[in-house]
Amino acid sequence: MLFLIDCVIVILEINNVISKSNMGLPSKRRTKTSKKERSSHFALKTQSLSKCPKCGKPVLSHRACSKCGTYKGKEVLDVKAKSKTLHQREKARKAEAKDKAKK
Ligand SMILES: [Zn+2]
Repeated sequence: MLFLIDCVIVILEINNVISKSNMGLPSKRRTKTSKKERSSHFALKTQSLSKCPKCGKPVLSHRACSKCGTYKGKEVLDVKAKSKTLHQREKARKAEAKDKAKK
């Protein structure tokens, strides 16, 4: 009798563990159609590009040109500084500082 009670307790504990596991089980199978209907919105849209008036490179609208650094005819980005590596920029800064110290 005691053995039977032990077995029942073990089964109840196993059921408890299974039901408390964090795996979500879908109540219904997702059909092919509903899956495809949802994924119909996943396609990537093409970016509308315009030409940079200064250099002619294709540019995203409302963004500065990455090649010449202009936006609405004004130079916004320092493209030359960006093209240099961090080491080169530091070297240039040190050289400028030395020149200032000499003057
Ligand atoms: Zn440009």
